Amino acid sequence: MIDLKGRIALVTGSTRGIGRAIASTLAQAGAKVACNGRNEALLQSLVEEIGGSGGEALALPCDVSDEGEAKRMVDRCISELGGIDILVNNAGITRDNLFVRMKSEEWEEVIATNLTGPYNVMRAAVRRMMRQREGAIINISSVTGRTGNPGQANYSAAKGGLNGLSATLARELAPRNIRVNVVAPGLIQTEMLGGVPESARETLLSRVPLGRLGEPSDIADMVAFLASNRAKYITGQIFVVDGGLSMG
Ligand code: NAP
Repeated sequence: MIDLKGRIALVTGSTRGIGRAIASTLAQAGAKVACNGRNEALLQSLVEEIGGSGGEALALPCDVSDEGEAKRMVDRCISELGGIDILVNNAGITRDNLFVRMKSEEWEEVIATNLTGPYNVMRAAVRRMMRQREGAIINISSVTGRTGNPGQANYSAAKGGLNGLSATLARELAPRNIRVNVVAPGLIQTEMLGGVPESARETLLSRVPLGRLGEPSDIADMVAFLASNRAKYITGQIFVVDGGLSMG
């Protein structure tokens, strides 16, 4: 049983999908959770759901790609919940297109949310973690960040960038007892995957040795472990949670 009692967590992109499962799982383990996303109604329903199960949560709506908004979000987490011990950078989008057809806006939007977003939030959170000489950062990347995927030049560049950013921060922050790890999901059943045509999804599924799509809880369980003291000697790693998809 993972115990996060007395810990304060911020989870970006938790209005639905993987982020929502992560916020709920961290709250079930006893953490106070600041929940982020842009859809305020969905955020409020999550906060009520966590409160209804005996947990404590706070809605912090903002667009993580905006530096000022990201800083204000982290400041509110610290002032209203009392600190920030665990940061999960989960917010992400896709704007798929073959490279030769990709529009500059599709490139820029994905880099802004999936790479600059985590940069903005970590810049705002890390000083506080350095002062308290403790922290756990978990960045949600993708197997695509290592393998690439046709139609996802923007997405795989952002996720590969996030892997490198995480490795560097793991080295820079280890002396302050701040651990930085990456979770790289494979095919997880969320709205994001809904954009993939049924035929393509069947083909992808046939390559998953465990024979099923992942559930958001499969990712949330790994994040809860990495956030906890049970992972206190683990930093700078990429944990692939993909049912064996990327084994080759
Ligand atoms: P999802 O269902 O589309 O959810 C994405 C979340 O990110 C939503 O809560 C969305 O909330 C939030 N978000 C998007 N842009 C944001 C912004 N600018 N600022 C703040 N929040 C923002 O996707 P998911 O499948 O759960 O994906 C979660 C993470 O896992 C992403 O980083 C994704 O790249 C990664 N991943 C997913 C899969 C998969 O198969 N599903 C595989 C590999 C990696 P709002 O719309 O309310 O802002």
